[in-house]
Amino acid sequence: METLVTRAEWGALPPLEQWRALPRTRGVKIHYEGRQVPADLALPDRHHRCAARVREIQAMHLADTVQGWIDIAYNALVCPHGRVFEGRGAHHESGANGDRGLNRAHYAVCAMIGDSGLTEPGTALLNGLCDAVDWLREHGAAGPEVAGHRDGRDTDCPGEPLYRWIQAGAPRP
Ligand SMILES: [Zn+2]
Ligand SMILES: [Zn+2]
Repeated sequence: METLVTRAEWGALPPLEQWRALPRTRGVKIHYEGRQVPADLALPDRHHRCAARVREIQAMHLADTVQGWIDIAYNALVCPHGRVFEGRGAHHESGANGDRGLNRAHYAVCAMIGDSGLTEPGTALLNGLCDAVDWLREHGAAGPEVAGHRDGRDTDCPGEPLYRWIQAGAPRP
C-alpha cells in the first residue's frame, strides 16, 4: 500500500512485550482520538506533524498504567491526509476495543480526528480508512465487518460524523 507509513518511518518504540497473534477477525472497528485535535492539522502542508502525533499517542498509551498497554493500542492509524500509520499491524491483537474478547473479534483503526478542533473526517481521511481496512483484509484476514468502538462498548468513540459514515456502510468517497 503506497500510503502506508511503517513503524520505522514514524519512529515507533518497540512493544514492551511481543504482540499476541491473531489469525483472523470478523472485521475492523473504527476509533477516533476522543480529545482535541488541532483544526489546522488537516491543512495540506501540515502532514509533517502527523508522525510526531502518532509518537505522542504511543507514548500516552505506554504511560497508561490503568490499561497496561504493551504498545500503541491500535493496529493502524489514519491521518487527515489519508496516510495509514502502522500500529500493531496485521495478525496482532489490538488493545483498543474494550476487552480481550472484543480485541480478538475486530482489529482497531484510529482516525486522527477528535471531539473538538478537527472533528469532521475529510475525503482523504475516509479514503485512508478504506485503505487501512483493505490492508487488514489483504494481510490480516480481516472479515467483512466495519463497526465503531461504540458497537460493543459504552463510549462516544468514534464520534458522530464517523459513526454516520460507518452506518452508511463505510463507503469509499
Ligand atoms: Zn475508541
Ligand atoms: Zn498527515
